[in-house]
Amino acid sequence: MIRAVFLFLLLMALIGLAGKWTRPRKVGRKSAGPPIATARKCPKCGTYLIGGGPCTCSLPAEDPAKDPKANG
Ligand SMILES: [Zn+2]
Repeated sequence: MIRAVFLFLLLMALIGLAGKWTRPRKVGRKSAGPPIATARKCPKCGTYLIGGGPCTCSLPAEDPAKDPKANG
C-alpha cells in the first residue's frame, strides 16, 4: 500500500516536471509588448498629440493684430 502512494507521488512529480519543461515560467504573466501604446508626440515641438489631429504648432498662428474686427 505504501508503495502505491509512493508511486503516485512520483508520478505527480514527473507530471509537474513535464509541465515545467513544456512551458517554462510563462504562467501568470503577460509580457507580450507594452501594456499601453506609446504616446504620439509632435516631431517639431514635442507636444503630446491627443486624438488624430495635427499639432497646433503646424497650424497658422492666430495673430490678434490682423483681426479685422479690431481695426474696424
Ligand atoms: Zn507641435
